[in-house]
Amino acid sequence: MTIQNLIRPSIKALKPYSSARDEFKGNTDNLTFLDANENPYANGVNRYPDPQQGKLKALISHIKKVPTESILLGNGSDEVLDLLIRMFCEPNKDNILILPPTYGMYEVLANVNAVETIKINLSEETFQPQIDAILSEANANSKILFLCSPNNPSGNCFETSSVEFLLKNFKGIVVMDEAYIDFSKGESWLSRLKEFPNLVVTQTLSKAFGMAGIRLGMCFASEEIIATLNKIKPPYNINELTQAKAMEGLSEMTLIKSQIACLIEQRDVLVKALKEVDFIEKVYPSEANFVMVRVDDANKRYQQLIENGIVIRNRTTQPLCENCLRLTVGTEEENKKLIEKLKNL
Ligand SMILES: *Cc1c(COP(=O)(O)O)cnc(C)c1O
Repeated sequence: MTIQNLIRPSIKALKPYSSARDEFKGNTDNLTFLDANENPYANGVNRYPDPQQGKLKALISHIKKVPTESILLGNGSDEVLDLLIRMFCEPNKDNILILPPTYGMYEVLANVNAVETIKINLSEETFQPQIDAILSEANANSKILFLCSPNNPSGNCFETSSVEFLLKNFKGIVVMDEAYIDFSKGESWLSRLKEFPNLVVTQTLSKAFGMAGIRLGMCFASEEIIATLNKIKPPYNINELTQAKAMEGLSEMTLIKSQIACLIEQRDVLVKALKEVDFIEKVYPSEANFVMVRVDDANKRYQQLIENGIVIRNRTTQPLCENCLRLTVGTEEENKKLIEKLKNL
């Protein structure tokens, strides 16, 4: 398997759009820019943003210890996931593999791109990948395997040995969606990018980093994969305000780390308290900033919580999640309110 053989032929042949900001690079001081049909009157956003997000990538590179050539940024990780499907999957021919119950966007994005989704459920109760079933369901058109660890909605991480086995034996791209990695004891797969040419890691500023509103997703992979993603991404996909706000937020790593520590502590408090609620039958262990619980009647409890002013996520229709609810860890006060309301239902 080579990466080049996995890329769609039309993408391999693609000559990308070259923007004004791509064509002129160099020292921008004291130059007059009449190349991009912008309005010249300065207001902070009258110029197009840097299409390669140089400053922001340098900061992310420093924080994540990954070279900038191995980083692509997206309008949320959802855009990154869409670009990956479009890079590797030929519509009406190729397929992706997903492991339900998991993040809903993988299948939606596949559907948008007329790409088939093959589903192999995680194991019951432990929510681990069933590696033999995955490899036997995969076929010559299976281009991407999506692994979500910690998994949404179950909250657990996948065993390292299973992921390693899949990286070595699945004959396509393995995407590790690490949206919740900062809440986990498990190590990120970022440190192992060099070892596995077919590994792609995605992360986001939407969860632990507290910036869901700016829409910034991160994709880490070999230079080869990133170079091709760069050909197909919209030229100015990360707007100026997002780049500026991300720079600002990411320079406060001490604050972010202390918030993460608080949320992990609160998660553990919440887990203990949830175990005391009589209609909660099971509290699943979590390595994320949410907890999945199984209750007596998910639809009823979901509705009752809304009547009490609390909105959670009902996952009862997901495979292996009958009567399961997903609760996001909030502030200490919010969690207290949740527990109090649950105990009084
Ligand atoms: C929330 C979430 C994302 C987030 O995506 P953004 O588009 O970056 O906000 C990605 N993957 C999973 C599993 C998630 O739960």
